[in-house]
Amino acid sequence: MNVRGYAARSSDSPLAPWGVYRRDPGERDVRIQIQHCGICHSDIHFARNEWHFTTYPAVPGHEIIGKVIQVGSGVTRHRAGDLVGVGCFVNSCRSCVSCKEGQENFCEGGLRMTFGSFEADGKTPTYGGYATEIVVDEHFVLKIPKTLDPAAAAPLLCAGITTYSPLKYVGLSEGQKIAVVGLGGLGHMAVKLAASFGAEVTVLSRSSSKQGDAERLGATDFVLTRNEGALRPLAGRFDFILDTISAAHDINGPLGCLKRDGTLILVGAPADPLPVAAFRLLGRRRSILGSNTGGIRETQEMLDHCGAHGITSDIERIVPDQINEAYERTLQSDVKYRFVIDCTKF
Ligand code: NAP
Ligand code: ZN
Ligand code: ZN
Repeated sequence: MNVRGYAARSSDSPLAPWGVYRRDPGERDVRIQIQHCGICHSDIHFARNEWHFTTYPAVPGHEIIGKVIQVGSGVTRHRAGDLVGVGCFVNSCRSCVSCKEGQENFCEGGLRMTFGSFEADGKTPTYGGYATEIVVDEHFVLKIPKTLDPAAAAPLLCAGITTYSPLKYVGLSEGQKIAVVGLGGLGHMAVKLAASFGAEVTVLSRSSSKQGDAERLGATDFVLTRNEGALRPLAGRFDFILDTISAAHDINGPLGCLKRDGTLILVGAPADPLPVAAFRLLGRRRSILGSNTGGIRETQEMLDHCGAHGITSDIERIVPDQINEAYERTLQSDVKYRFVIDCTKF
């Protein structure tokens, strides 16, 4: 079947209406009527082929929330009427070490991303959540806590888990000092989540217009990085730095702000390499850690944590006609702090 949605036809054309193919639901599939879909910066990288693997037409979107409207005969975890979510991937090999450990996000046998991959047949492209419906294997469908506003919960499916997972992995705990670099979709979720773990959070941003929000989001400090020498007073201060910047940038300045044995966690995914000055690492045994979304079990844990703490994303709701404008505004860092599309309007 084809459902209504939006696609990019080439790397430099605006997104426009397109009939999105969905498979007929199989035994273990859940058919979801999509209500909301967040706009992640990865959608923009992908639609514009900045990572050099996009095939067209390309349908982005991996922060999906909707209602179950049909389940296959073998589905046990979800029922018609449930409010559910779908994040960055829709299938994995389920037999590699990572899959067996519940870390499907690091699947070595063929992770199937929500967009930019192929269905199980190996030739039908996967299409993302800028559409009215999606069909997904029940294992990759998450339960959304009833206490959360569904539109504001959509960004948890990528921005939420992508920041929650590495903070858990490094064991961020009460009283530790963390700096979040880049206050966008991921960055503002990182501030909220790190604060909910009891950490002391500093925001490093080049946008003075965001200064007033840092404290409200849970940070104790805000440093405007545009100012010459702004990082100097922060030398050796932080246990962790979470870098969410979407474009090429200098990471050596932030590295110098880490304590001995501190870790810079990289989640931003700029297309070009980020040069590292060796002595920024050697002198104080600092390290750089990369992280890519999170497994299904941990994503559910994150959603439940957010449900318990009342954590959602700060969002600006848009209709499909506004997607291209939202892309431009995101590129100009003019978003507070996630655009979420009303998918009932496609
Ligand atoms: P976003 O909302 O656009 O936020 C990125 C922020 O980075 C901007 O708001 C801005 O913050 C800062 N920034 C942008 N360009 C900059 C530049 N040239 N120099 C310095 N700072 C700059 O993007 P997002 O959705 O949070 O995504 C951020 C990155 O993470 C993207 O590359 C995305 O693809 C990637 N990502 C990775 C994963 C993963 O699994 N690892 C998952 C999702 C997204 P200020 O205005 O505060 O400076
Ligand atoms: Zn994303
Ligand atoms: Zn696997």
